[in-house]
Amino acid sequence: MLKILLVEDNPEDATFVQRLLHEGLHNQLTFHQAPTAQQGLELAKQNPLQAILLDVNLQQALGLDYITQFIEYCPGAPIIMLSGIENEELALEAVKKGAQDYLIKGQMTSRGLCRAIRYAMERQRATQRITHLAHYDHLTGLANRGLFYERLNSAVARCNRNDTAMALVFLDLDHFKTINDTLGHESGDMLLKTVAHRLKQCIREIDTGVRLGGDEFAVLLEQILSVEDVATVANRILQLLAQPVLVQHHQLHVTGSLGITIYPWDSANPQELLAHADAAMYRAKAQGGNNYQFYTAGMKTAGLDRTTLEVELRRALNKQEFLLHYQPQYDLRTKQVVGMEALLRWHHPYQGLINPKQFIPQAEENGMILPIGEWVLRAASKQAKYWEKQGFPSAQVAVNLSARQIHHGNLPALLQEILKHSHLDPENLKLELTETFLIHETEETIQTLRELKAMGIHLYIDDFGAGYASLRYLKSFPLDGIKLDQSLIQNLPYSTNDAAIVDAVISLGNALGLQVIAEGVETTEQAQYLESHGCNIIQGYWISPPLPANETTHMHLMVQS
Ligand code: C2E
Ligand code: CA
Ligand code: CA
Repeated sequence: MLKILLVEDNPEDATFVQRLLHEGLHNQLTFHQAPTAQQGLELAKQNPLQAILLDVNLQQALGLDYITQFIEYCPGAPIIMLSGIENEELALEAVKKGAQDYLIKGQMTSRGLCRAIRYAMERQRATQRITHLAHYDHLTGLANRGLFYERLNSAVARCNRNDTAMALVFLDLDHFKTINDTLGHESGDMLLKTVAHRLKQCIREIDTGVRLGGDEFAVLLEQILSVEDVATVANRILQLLAQPVLVQHHQLHVTGSLGITIYPWDSANPQELLAHADAAMYRAKAQGGNNYQFYTAGMKTAGLDRTTLEVELRRALNKQEFLLHYQPQYDLRTKQVVGMEALLRWHHPYQGLINPKQFIPQAEENGMILPIGEWVLRAASKQAKYWEKQGFPSAQVAVNLSARQIHHGNLPALLQEILKHSHLDPENLKLELTETFLIHETEETIQTLRELKAMGIHLYIDDFGAGYASLRYLKSFPLDGIKLDQSLIQNLPYSTNDAAIVDAVISLGNALGLQVIAEGVETTEQAQYLESHGCNIIQGYWISPPLPANETTHMHLMVQS
């Protein structure tokens, strides 16, 4: 059914056009007619129309003047101007205003008119498609960067005019690159679509959701009344994002980092909006991701912003600003140190000692984790060899491995070379793999881990229980042990819930022949609880904080006495 509106003040002309339409379209036509533009607009508002035929000379007005309004009311319907006389100039002006065609009533036949309508509809559709492509991201359907800038400018103008405020929220997914690298682009795309869908659920009609590119999104929240309102939306986004996504049989867990700035409260300069949201987002990343940060003055200069960080990390590597601290892993029963975990530190020339949580997430995103991680492996192996030569009962070192290191290049070959070069017994090298990364249970990952295992290297799953504690990993990966996450230990023995999980993991670990190491043990009570429940290897401030290598010697020696 074609719903067509004719705006025509001359009754004879109206009957004539209606007859032509009926002849050409027979019973496919629903015909509406209005004698004035105003009544036409009313009809257009109420009915979804497929085409509008608009007389050029209406009694009170020029049809031309109404083109824009008709387009606004009925954006999908092409407008065809009808005129009693041939007038090139008028025709051109009509097209410029958005009309699709210009027909002379005296020359119209039924076939000609119906064909003109069909073509106009086709052209309209094509134009809309092109406009859509130019303004929207084809994968997610969200506004693209170009449209975002346009909307941002008009939103700023609206704030200035109406004395209102708006929030600009940047969202960057955490560890998206790892998912893309391991599961492939198709899975990555599906994940991005889901993220976009969830983002849309968090915002109102008047807000704009944008995909800026890659795994970067933005949201414009208009007419905000308080910071709390924005925080509520940010929380909702984080919550929705954190729900697992099923992509090609993989349960993926993705989180995001949000950076928020409010115009004009943070700065009255709209030019600074993007940089502020970006700086805040980077702060959220530095906090370990899965959180939001509001922009605060000075963030840009105090923080390590995205562009300079990569340069800084590269320099740090060349200038040997990285160092390792070591934290003992202690066996409560034998009262011996059974290993040392190497923990990365960055001795920044101006900022002092920087914690790995402040730069490792970014290094993982920008790829710098590969050379940095390689440096860690070399340095830790060298140190272990030194302890081996000292004749300490255990010279084992544990090194944290980022997922990107597992999935990039040939990790087994690199480790072969490092072990050969340092002459370290592979049995003295432990690798800690973060649980949240192992969700990518691909054949390739398993194969790499098997190769490492075959070399004699020990493999541990780190932070177990922090996120999704999937018991499946324990079966599918060739592991030697599990490290219970600090968050589970923290409230022992008071939290019955945590205690139940800890008990279950310990007994499962024991049943599977896996060593269970408890991390973040700070109190005697925690140590006692763990030992009495079958977990005797502990790590944490209760034994010792991470220390420079030369300050750990007494702990190795303590063992022998
Ligand atoms: P992680 O592997 O879970 O390391 C344990 C973290 O807990 C360390 O933080 C350590 O200092 C801290 N810790 C130890 N005992 C206690 C305790 O009793 N109580 C509390 N509250 N905390 C304790 P750190 O050194 O800041 O390292 C943070 C994270 O950075 C590490 O978490 C690890 O995921 C990552 N990381 C450190 N070094 C490297 C590295 O060389 N490569 C990679 N890829 N990641 C690293
Ligand atoms: Ca670790
Ligand atoms: Ca850990």
